[in-house]
Amino acid sequence: MKNVILLGAPGSGKGTQSAKLVGSKSLNHVSTGNLLRDEIAKESVLGLKVKQVMESGQLVSDELVAELLKANLKLDSEAYIFDGYPRNLEQAKTLSTILGNHSCVAVYFKLDTEKLVERLANRRVTKDGKNIYNLITNPPKNSGVCDISGEPLLQRDDDKEEVVRKRMEVFESTINPVLSYYKDSGKLVEVNANQSLDGVFGELISKIE
Ligand code: AMP
Repeated sequence: MKNVILLGAPGSGKGTQSAKLVGSKSLNHVSTGNLLRDEIAKESVLGLKVKQVMESGQLVSDELVAELLKANLKLDSEAYIFDGYPRNLEQAKTLSTILGNHSCVAVYFKLDTEKLVERLANRRVTKDGKNIYNLITNPPKNSGVCDISGEPLLQRDDDKEEVVRKRMEVFESTINPVLSYYKDSGKLVEVNANQSLDGVFGELISKIE
């Protein structure tokens, strides 16, 4: 199985589609955002270092994220969905080094940014960020509670409007070189992320096979 690299703005559906992919393919999900949030929850040295940067919507340093990522991969035995990594050209190059001879496809979730602010304002997640809902398009069966774990659903601090705007700005200023990098190596495919969850998933599956 090929490694799958998901590229797209915050709120474009990478996490939600990752969960669907994990259920249908023998792929593991690795989200650098979740790994960083776990560090913050544990109050580790790394977590304390990155907390403020994340709360402001900026990117954590390339070195810290690369170390954390490498420590959580077993590429010789597993294939992964990379969610939220790479975020810039440097990280794309680092990921190529990490992957070595392991094959990969990069998928760009294309969506107009106006929709994203609304999506993020309506996103609710479990404390670990792993179960994701949208109050309008994918609501939980019981209001405020996760269908799977029964935990209360929360709004991520960085999904608040002002931070969302900063995150969009960061995304727009860093994504183009990443897209060119994968396009030039013949590894880029695009998915129209402005569809129903199942519509996006169908297109995603057809493009990574
Ligand atoms: P995400 O959950 O992917 O939206 O990421 C949430 C926040 O975690 C981002 O706004 C960054 O502060 C940080 N983060 C996640 N992934 C990366 C990455 N690959 N490089 C730098 N910072 C990251």
